[in-house]
Amino acid sequence: PVVLGIETSCDETGIGIVRGTTLLANAIASSMDEHARYGGVVPEIAARAHLEALAPTIHSALAEARLGWSDIDAIAVTCGPGLSGALMVGVAAAKGLALATGKPLYAVNHLVGHVGVDLVTPDSEPLEYPTIALLVSGGHTSLLLVRDLVSDVELLGETIDDAAGEAFDKVARVLGLPYPGGPHIDRVAVGGNPKAIRFPRGLSLPKDMAAHRYDFSFSGLKTAVARWVEARRDRGEEFSAADVAASFREAVADVLLTKALAACADLQVPRLLLGGGVVANARIRELAAERAAAAGVTLRIPPLELCTDNGAMIAALGAQLIMRGHAPSELGFGADSTLPVTDIQVNVSQ
Ligand code: ATP
Ligand code: MG
Ligand code: FE
Repeated sequence: PVVLGIETSCDETGIGIVRGTTLLANAIASSMDEHARYGGVVPEIAARAHLEALAPTIHSALAEARLGWSDIDAIAVTCGPGLSGALMVGVAAAKGLALATGKPLYAVNHLVGHVGVDLVTPDSEPLEYPTIALLVSGGHTSLLLVRDLVSDVELLGETIDDAAGEAFDKVARVLGLPYPGGPHIDRVAVGGNPKAIRFPRGLSLPKDMAAHRYDFSFSGLKTAVARWVEARRDRGEEFSAADVAASFREAVADVLLTKALAACADLQVPRLLLGGGVVANARIRELAAERAAAAGVTLRIPPLELCTDNGAMIAALGAQLIMRGHAPSELGFGADSTLPVTDIQVNVSQ
């Protein structure tokens, strides 16, 4: 089936089109620049920007795929989690389109989309189940046991405080780098020494591994970096921002992969799938490849442009649901800003 996916959970208006497991178009409009001066996403601005960007982005996606509306078999939309106002714009648009065209509508989970984008990653072998999935995004850091992407996702653990992406954004601010911080930390870290400063690896001491084996904590790391930098500034001491960025990035990558590979070993699942915006990070990708190879674990990472928010991942889930015989969502569903990762499709009839 040819499915058009609509993503508006945060500051990216994403429209993707897939045919089965083949990616045909991935059009994105971002309101990121409008939020930069506030140092973070402003929900009201994001919602307005989606309203303005939706129609033109749908047209770009159809043009990119060289298709017209009559070629689209179904629509998929992100119904959560995310910013309420932003989600509502996409959900309302999707329902309007479904009502006007009579096409079936699938309301799907944004977080599952971040890992499910693997389904339409070009040139990849079919995904084998079960797989451990590590989701690292702006608002979430979760370890999942995926027995099936459209019907069985189990949450093994998640962050008990900040998401890894939030830590990247906060550390960037401390270093005077613009929002969103992730790509800037990556840029500044080049040439820095990752062993220069030993920043804390949250919940990875033996006693924490006993009680919180699959959980994460990044708030202590974020504070440690801020204190370290402030102490140098107070003393008027020079320091290398490259070393700070490289050491911080190393601490995040280390703890993420220690826990993900512990899950692979404990549950005897030699497969690891990464997803989410933070997985665009160069060091996380590199360390994942090294550690997975050493552990005999098969690693799958989406290409950079499919890590951050996009409509292709939503279309991918929609197409997969159809191919697996799932019924469309009834149109009474709403936007759910705190939808849990285990709710893969929202269907009010169930
Ligand atoms: P969620 O998916 O949890 O709702 P979100 O959709 O806002 O949150 P994503 O779009 O998946 O999050 O990811 C955005 C985050 O990814 C931001 O915190 C950003 O700083 C981070 N990020 C982007 N590129 C990089 C990078 N190269 N290194 C580290 N972090 C990055
Ligand atoms: Mg974003
Ligand atoms: Fe996201």
